Amino acid sequence: MAHSWLTGAPVEGPLPLTGDGVPGELRREVLRDAAVVVVLTVLATAAGIAWELPRSIVGWSASAGVPLDHLVFLLAASHLLMMVFGARRGRQLKAEAAAHRRLEEQLRDRAGRDPLTGLATLTGFLAALDRLARSGTDPDDVAVLLLDIDRFTAVNDTLGHDVGSHLLVAVADRLRAVLPAGAVAARTGGDVFALLVPDAPDGIATTVVAALRRPFAVRDLQLEVDLSAGLAHGLGAGSAELLRRADVARGTAKRQATGVAVYSPELDSFDPGLLALHAELRCAIRDGGLEVHHQPKVRLADGRVTGVEALVRWPHPQLGLLAPDRFIVLAEQTGLIAPLTDVVLRCALADVRAWREQGRRLTVAVNLSARLLHDLELPDRVAAALREERVSPADLELEVTETAAMDDPDRAMTVLGQLRQLGVRLSVDDFGTGHASLAHLSKLPVDTLKIDRSFVAGLGTEPAARAIVRSTVDLGHALGLTVVAEGVETAEQWHQLAAWGCDLAQGWWLARAVPASVVPAVADEVERRVAGLQRPAVAAIVPAQRSLG
Ligand code: C2E
Ligand code: MG
Ligand code: MG
Repeated sequence: MAHSWLTGAPVEGPLPLTGDGVPGELRREVLRDAAVVVVLTVLATAAGIAWELPRSIVGWSASAGVPLDHLVFLLAASHLLMMVFGARRGRQLKAEAAAHRRLEEQLRDRAGRDPLTGLATLTGFLAALDRLARSGTDPDDVAVLLLDIDRFTAVNDTLGHDVGSHLLVAVADRLRAVLPAGAVAARTGGDVFALLVPDAPDGIATTVVAALRRPFAVRDLQLEVDLSAGLAHGLGAGSAELLRRADVARGTAKRQATGVAVYSPELDSFDPGLLALHAELRCAIRDGGLEVHHQPKVRLADGRVTGVEALVRWPHPQLGLLAPDRFIVLAEQTGLIAPLTDVVLRCALADVRAWREQGRRLTVAVNLSARLLHDLELPDRVAAALREERVSPADLELEVTETAAMDDPDRAMTVLGQLRQLGVRLSVDDFGTGHASLAHLSKLPVDTLKIDRSFVAGLGTEPAARAIVRSTVDLGHALGLTVVAEGVETAEQWHQLAAWGCDLAQGWWLARAVPASVVPAVADEVERRVAGLQRPAVAAIVPAQRSLG
């Protein structure tokens, strides 16, 4: 019986081998010949009896003077020789069959094994997964870990392909060393490695990644690599699906630079339901099915509501009121983000005009997706919207994330420059979560920094968050920017930000996003509340500030 070099488990060969190692076709041929011999023997015996051949042979032997027992001996000797030669031929056939089988195994082995690292190839890995699926292992215990080396091309480009190859071999060796019992390791693509773990222990992904983060001695170099790893559990949906899920998690780990990500359906953009949602979103954009809500921004110095941020909502007939997180990415991936933004922009500007007519002058901020910063026609569309809705460019602000401004910076810079020329204000949204360098930030034509709410949330408890918020306020002011704090959820945060000289605050403690029609009333109410709270709250926070240092 052949044994897998992958798992050591017995495998079926591609040739139908019989129990004693003789190929089935050969056995069938031998059996056919034997059947022919039997049939011929029966026919000859019948003919002999019908024509009385035994009597003729006895008569011939008497007349020719050849004793009958000589004839019997001759017959027996010839049969014996036939048996000896037949057995020898049988052994030869068995040896041929075994050689044939070894060749088959070698070929199969070569197709399933990566010549560089000696690990399994993708073919071998999938075969191992399928075997595991058939083996009766609990499908829920099976896990696949997929990992790749970040910036591996840079290793090849800067240190040469030879070093790149040695690094891959070193990674493979390290993987073998940390492999849990029964696991299978493969190189499924250039710098992509896969582990199949039949009974995955907790923390397997972090253990493997930690092992691979230790330096590799390659030639005279000590190479350290970063990895992105995706873990997926459960063989229930099939081996290809398990591999795909691990790949989705790996993509997430890479995008978010987290090192390791575990698959969950929320990470997965492959969702058949999304196709239907996409068609519905297209209709909602076209038929006015989206709503724009507004969240007030309040000036810390005097508690006045100076503007709002427009946040899109989708009242879905079956799913209820959907937050943008449920459909913005879908719109971005399917070309719907430009028409969606146009709708939000038009609505927001119409709302600004309506509030002005009611005696409330407010600015409005509209979020721009990264993709739109590469749309060279965007400035013209914004100019047309301002003109047609009769709103001053000074009353419009556009929010972009730092990462958006970093992708294809030249093109983004052109679009941002043209928007700024219109007289529109620009702000960097979610500041602190992207990768903008300070040098780059100082070159961006922006007016405002919005400190991400994750830092604001840590104000009371995390010294690092306090330091970041405080220095971002100072940094923004040094660059001549207005600084907005997002996600203000408590009075303490409000007072702390005011003490540090932050300009504006936005957050649920002040007001949530509300429909346009109630914005003036909500703004009045917020201003009243902040004015009323200011004095006692300041007195209350001073000791707390001291104790936090
Ligand atoms: P963002 O631009 O950073 O918007 C602020 C988000 O923080 C809003 O979530 C808001 O409801 C939420 N938020 C405000 N105050 C607080 C608070 O005190 N605590 C907490 N935990 N959250 C608070 P929302 O409306 O779900 O929007 C999420 C994101 O969706 C926005 O983040 C923005 O990036 C995007 N978005 C919203 N509307 C649009 C749009 O029209 N176009 C584009 N491209 N993106 C949009
Ligand atoms: Mg925003
Ligand atoms: Mg934000």
